[in-house]
Amino acid sequence: MNSANQLLRSVFGYDSFRPPQQAIVETLIDGGDALVLMPTGGGKSLCYQIPALARDGCGVVVSPLIALMQDQVSALRQLGVRAAFLNSSLDPASARQVESDLETGALDLLYVAPERLTQERCLALLERSPISLFAIDEAHCVSQWGHDFRADYLALSLLHQRFPRVPRIALTATADARTRAEIIARLDLGQARQFIAGFDRPNIRYRISLKHNARGQLLQFLRDEHRQDAGIVYCLSRRKTEETALWLQQHGYDALPYHAGLPAQRRAHTQARFLRDERVIVVATIAFGMGIDKPDVRFVAHLDMPRTVESYYQETGRAGRDGQSADAWMVYGLQDVIKLRQMMATSEGSEAHKRAEQHRLNAMLGLCEITTCRRQALLAYFGESRETACGNCDNCLTPVATWDGTQAARMALSAVYRTGQRFGVAHLIDVLRGATSDKIVQFDHQHLPTYGIGRAFDGNQWRSVFRQLVARGYLSVDIEGFGALRLEEKCRALLRGEETIALRRDSRRNAPKQQTKVRLHEAIDVALWEALRERRRELAEVQGVPPYVIFHDRTLQEMCLVLPRTMAELARISGVGERKLQKYGNSFLAVLNARPAAGSNNAGDIRNSAGVDAREAADGNR
Ligand code: ADP
Ligand code: ZN
Repeated sequence: MNSANQLLRSVFGYDSFRPPQQAIVETLIDGGDALVLMPTGGGKSLCYQIPALARDGCGVVVSPLIALMQDQVSALRQLGVRAAFLNSSLDPASARQVESDLETGALDLLYVAPERLTQERCLALLERSPISLFAIDEAHCVSQWGHDFRADYLALSLLHQRFPRVPRIALTATADARTRAEIIARLDLGQARQFIAGFDRPNIRYRISLKHNARGQLLQFLRDEHRQDAGIVYCLSRRKTEETALWLQQHGYDALPYHAGLPAQRRAHTQARFLRDERVIVVATIAFGMGIDKPDVRFVAHLDMPRTVESYYQETGRAGRDGQSADAWMVYGLQDVIKLRQMMATSEGSEAHKRAEQHRLNAMLGLCEITTCRRQALLAYFGESRETACGNCDNCLTPVATWDGTQAARMALSAVYRTGQRFGVAHLIDVLRGATSDKIVQFDHQHLPTYGIGRAFDGNQWRSVFRQLVARGYLSVDIEGFGALRLEEKCRALLRGEETIALRRDSRRNAPKQQTKVRLHEAIDVALWEALRERRRELAEVQGVPPYVIFHDRTLQEMCLVLPRTMAELARISGVGERKLQKYGNSFLAVLNARPAAGSNNAGDIRNSAGVDAREAADGNR
């Protein structure tokens, strides 16, 4: 038996376990069961892969995502792990080969679709074969309340009955207590140790700014920070995904639309390109995402606000699974608020359901409007408290100013009241600013006491006031359409002068560019980084695998910083295990050693001094 730490180093090329991994791995190696709840990108796979290698026999992984099995298996084979899958995409001869490998103990890991595993024939095969453990991935699929329910998962409880001695591990990133209880009950995991890691995704930078020209803002963001990166842009409507993708294409980006209305073949093609290429941007509705297991998604952008914090978190969570810095970027404005409030009010469903939906929307709006740390707010929403501000969200990086909006809010509310709660924002602003529109004349609004009392503010400032009042529930939007605003109970205290209100000062700020730009370490030589990526691309293409299967971005970046020149030095880079060193070491060293040591005669001395000071190294080479 190999020790877990040794396997981590030699097979995966990593130095240490992340906090919960070690305990999980040990539990399984000792034959115990585990329930693991870890955020996306937390490192769930290692939790069963290492025990499967450490124990005798083959680890059987149940996964609902057939489309991904191929990639997972390729990635493992790259590491020298004897992996295979069994699902309906396999021809009979290949399936027979896999089955015989399993029986003869020639496999370390086997991925199986749940509908296949629960067939008697497959169970009998497993009983004849040496099995080290069962891993049930995406375990929340047993939950009948969730979005991803799979009837086949219910039958998995039989694993415990048929294989009482084989340890089981169930894994999910979906965390609410009800789902967890359901997983335990349905998979018979009452005795399992539970490992619940925090929700935080520290490498994701959350940014939400005010929408003034959404497409232009998106383009600016891409140009400044993600010229060459893969990412997802979410929109609410199908049409908008197509228009936005086309528009991005016209601006030189490799953008593709994705929504449920497109032919299945086209969707599959888009998904495959997204996984395999490094620079594809998918412009999608929420239909895109489930099972997208691409580690190097560098940004998730929202052109429309999601309806709930849960959706926001799930969608943004697709960025940066590899732990490298990534952006969750969103623009939102008054129209989003009005549109979503209306959609919700006119939606089907009971009153209780609508109220719950409103409540969730309010939480999302609250997240947009807060002036304090967004991560703290997000985590608090999921019941996790965090003592300090994060330093990696827009509000932390560029603190927002607030102003005493009490007086302005009273004026705005009074304009709503005096005009009979029948008008939308545009007209209310005309009243406040004393404009002379047809509508003003038609309704004789120039004689109201509120007419013209708000001339000191321009239209944008008033829109900001109204948006914040709607977002915070002082005003509601009329169900009948046209976006008429109505007063809510909550106004009373404000109107009576019993309460004050601090409002966000909206500026058209863009987060400081130098801080977010590509966020390669400043010492990295961009030309070298590109050359390494190019080499990786060539190697991936030859084998028909996604580039990240060869090496992750993080591994290439570390190469740029440490500048290894020999196989021994390369072996110390995180992510370079024994097999990959053998297979690719020379190929990458050739790139690393081919760099001109421009501008300095003794660059070589500096760049490989032990405990490299990356900064110095890069300076020496500039
Ligand atoms: P999850 O399935 O939880 O979303 P993965 O298992 O795909 O996450 O792991 C996310 C990334 O983190 C992968 O790139 C993986 O190789 C990397 N990773 C996992 N554990 C470690 C570790 N101990 N040290 C370094 N990298 C790790
Ligand atoms: Zn923060």
